[in-house]
Amino acid sequence: MRDWHLAGEETPRTVHAQISLSEREARDGAVIPLRAALPATCCACGGRGETWMERCESCNGCGDAFVSREIWVRTPPDVVDGARLRFTVTPPAAPTTQLDVTVAIRASGWRVPARVSRR
Ligand SMILES: [Zn+2]
Repeated sequence: MRDWHLAGEETPRTVHAQISLSEREARDGAVIPLRAALPATCCACGGRGETWMERCESCNGCGDAFVSREIWVRTPPDVVDGARLRFTVTPPAAPTTQLDVTVAIRASGWRVPARVSRR
């Protein structure tokens, strides 16, 4: 097994999220916004994990916080229901994070009416 806890080496974090695609988006590929809680520096303690002499309560002493952010991801064509896509994101002032996205495909029955596009 590989030891991820070498000094100075940070384990990339994985954040899980889910997106739902219409059948057309799943077939053609799409750019979809998703909301995920990404790591950020705790703003209560500035990442130190403590305020004065006490452990920071906001982050439980670890100096990190999770901030909900909207991320736009591009899905490849021909994805299937339940597919998992991996993205790497680097939020501002936060470590690079692996985004593990599970795709759900909406049945055509409850698809939101498609916008009419005229050419
Ligand atoms: Zn804190």
